[in-house]
Amino acid sequence: MKEERILIEHGTIITLDKERRIIKNGAITVEGSEISYVGKMSGLRRSAGRERVINAEGKLVLPGFINTHTHLEYSGVDRGIADDLPLTVFLSKRLRPSEAVTRPEDIYVSTMLCCLEMIKTGTTCVCDTGGFHPASVAKAVEDAGMRATVAYGSMDIAPPERPLAGDQQASTEENLRRSESLIKKWHGAAGDRIRARCSIRVLPNVSEELIFGLNEIAQKYDVGVNAHLSDTEEVVEAAKRMRGCREIEYLDRLGVLGPRWMGVHMVWLSDDDVEIVRKRDMKVSHCPGGALHLGFGCTQAGKFVELVKKGVTVSLSQDSTTANNSLDMFRSMYLLSIHKDAKMDPTVFPPEKALEMATIDGAKALLWEDKIGSLEPGKKADIILVDTRRSNWVPMHDFSIVPNLVYSGDGADVDTVIIDGNVVMENRQIKTMDEHSILEKAQRASEEILKRADVRIHPRWRVE
Ligand SMILES: [Zn+2]
Repeated sequence: MKEERILIEHGTIITLDKERRIIKNGAITVEGSEISYVGKMSGLRRSAGRERVINAEGKLVLPGFINTHTHLEYSGVDRGIADDLPLTVFLSKRLRPSEAVTRPEDIYVSTMLCCLEMIKTGTTCVCDTGGFHPASVAKAVEDAGMRATVAYGSMDIAPPERPLAGDQQASTEENLRRSESLIKKWHGAAGDRIRARCSIRVLPNVSEELIFGLNEIAQKYDVGVNAHLSDTEEVVEAAKRMRGCREIEYLDRLGVLGPRWMGVHMVWLSDDDVEIVRKRDMKVSHCPGGALHLGFGCTQAGKFVELVKKGVTVSLSQDSTTANNSLDMFRSMYLLSIHKDAKMDPTVFPPEKALEMATIDGAKALLWEDKIGSLEPGKKADIILVDTRRSNWVPMHDFSIVPNLVYSGDGADVDTVIIDGNVVMENRQIKTMDEHSILEKAQRASEEILKRADVRIHPRWRVE
């Protein structure tokens, strides 16, 4: 119900506004789907009308996290099915076969479980990179009360080392038709809680014609483009064989790269690639968890410190639960510390930068920064309350508010979540779904998918 005003009082507010203000004993008011006041309790004007009061004493109040890359279609049903495998085996022997037999009703349950995990750990907006049934994803996002971007994951060619299963390979025209119809139906839906984008699933599986076609659609509807790019050395080598140069250079030669493009992973970039990304104002989605778990070479080859230094918008993401096994953005913020080790320099990626990447930079990457990513009057009310009266937070000083959040915080510390002005979780109780039923349905769906796909995985230790 949105007719009453929401007042969040006595909290420590991390605004992420332009001055990066942190306000102790602060208050926020929400009217409809928007924030109407952010400031000191002393500056608050009392409302004459009905008001729902949320006491934030002992809590941090901050913008909800923005996860700029995951795979909602299967993350809720394929967690853990491809651990500890090289990417090509991960894709061809586990993921693609199971995806091929995943039905729209499984996708709905998968997305609901992902939304449940994200809300419980403070994520309010997610960019789904897109699979084959994005309408089922969009419907679940709408029902779960999340904010998201959805896409159709386009693929129209299948070289021998990147085989596709079932009907995953459609014609170029069919791919374009599916992307455009998704945008027409879902871009701006649910009161603009859901937006649509174009998606190049992976470069080795798309033709030049499809790249041009998707870029044209993105321009026509003024939407973004996601693409998994340069995640492993192998895909960069494949691009050299197939296209005659590295992936980023190839896309730049086509003349398509620009501010609406977001490259996901972007681990194996050359210095020239970094310069192209900067010049074109291309956005980056960095998934440290996925890169570490899959052994992409992030600490060896990654140029994330250099990208940030050059002023490139680098956002933070989780990847799928098949790749990273968790959708908790606290984990990703902490994992940025891998770059301290890689560079043997503890000053890189300070916690304030990690928090920017998880909020306002994510909003920029999704072309949504005018509405989300910070707590300011006029912005959408996507707000989380994090309980700091827990053993992992004490002591906390003014100088350690953000460091404690990034280095000591945990998704389980998130207490209350508001999305688009709706309280979707309060005192860790989810309001938009039956939590127990979603857990049971996802477990059952996963078991059945593995059976249908005939994927047999044996435990390393005998289970009695
Ligand atoms: Zn991915």
